[in-house]
Amino acid sequence: MKRRKLIKNLTILPLSGAVVGSTIPFGTVATACTSSKIKRDIFRELGIRTFINAAGTYTALSASLMHEEVKDVWLASAEEYAVLDEVQDKVGERIAEMCHAEAATVTAGCFSALVLGMAGVLTGNDTEKVARLPDLTGMKSEVLTQKSHNWGYIHALKLTGIRLVEVETVQDVENAVNENTAMMWFLNDAALNGQISAEEWVALGKKFNIPTMNDIAADVPPVENLWKYNDMGFDLVCISGGKGLCGPQSAGILMGRKDLVSAARLSAPPRSSTIGRGMKVNKEEIIGMYVALEKYINQDHEAEWKMWEDRVAVIENAAKEIDGVSTEVTVPPIANHTPTLTISWDISKINVSGRDFISRLQTGDPSIEVRGGRNESIVITVFMLKPGQDKIVASRVREELIKAAVSQS
Ligand SMILES: *Cc1c(COP(=O)(O)O)cnc(C)c1O
Repeated sequence: MKRRKLIKNLTILPLSGAVVGSTIPFGTVATACTSSKIKRDIFRELGIRTFINAAGTYTALSASLMHEEVKDVWLASAEEYAVLDEVQDKVGERIAEMCHAEAATVTAGCFSALVLGMAGVLTGNDTEKVARLPDLTGMKSEVLTQKSHNWGYIHALKLTGIRLVEVETVQDVENAVNENTAMMWFLNDAALNGQISAEEWVALGKKFNIPTMNDIAADVPPVENLWKYNDMGFDLVCISGGKGLCGPQSAGILMGRKDLVSAARLSAPPRSSTIGRGMKVNKEEIIGMYVALEKYINQDHEAEWKMWEDRVAVIENAAKEIDGVSTEVTVPPIANHTPTLTISWDISKINVSGRDFISRLQTGDPSIEVRGGRNESIVITVFMLKPGQDKIVASRVREELIKAAVSQS
């Protein structure tokens, strides 16, 4: 039976009362002795495909899995009520201390950290201005960005009503700054693409007394990046909670200057008449973010790196001996800084396109997600794998390569 059909049937079976494996039929009345023991297989019940994530921390693929410690506090914090601002205050203090920042707050992902941080810069503590956004009457309205940094998530800033002004050189910055310049934004991932370095960006901000913000969303590892840019002097730093930190994917952190972080919070929930009201994080995300950060900082990063290299080697070794296959391990310099394996093949020896190869891995059993490379290639990362999954990925990749090999008789 085809997997899809099988899944479909499985989702129907429980309704008819049949017990499949350890699944308890939906609607079964849990008795006192079973209630805490039986887990619903909710993905199977809903017919949702789950998979081995050999792609990376992609939002669309639900990014990362939370550690046991994070899940534990998530559940524990779901058991009690607390005043949301107090949760943010207490957690913010701890996070700030861990990251060498004056202040910090948990946001609904890095994107909302960008929005709220920008809002804080524009409004300061003026609640009338907070209520006026994205109408910038009475506020500064221009944000400087290097041309090579102006893409993707920078859209977050525009939610506040600001206008982006592109610059390329230090001279451009000197020319562009005026009384309307609200902030200078830096995209860490693009640091090597622009002419102005992070240090110079900070120095320019200080020279003209304009707040600087750095988006480091996907930029741990290395762990030092959690404080490097605060130490460097950026006024605000934004990071995702659900990428390398393996916290809740719906969380992120805004950290930096105390006055700016508290101004940013004026646009954040629970306050209602704000542009940020839809960016809610509850105590579970806030506390989960804190524990994820704590765990991340305290873990053995060298051992983790070695483990990633070992996993990559397992997959690489399974593929590279096959005639027509070549492999390469690289480490992206900034974002997603983790050993990354590219497997490419010669189409005359292995007759499958990269796209078809990916779909064969997706529809196989177990389903595996990898990224597409150029032409006949795939790209694999191992930092989101669960223990042992490297071997499964290795054998499935090898199997599909061999299956597609053209017999050279
Ligand atoms: C992922 C990402 C974001 C958005 O982060 P979320 O935590 O998903 O909101 C912002 N900026 C960059 C550079 C990113 O990679």
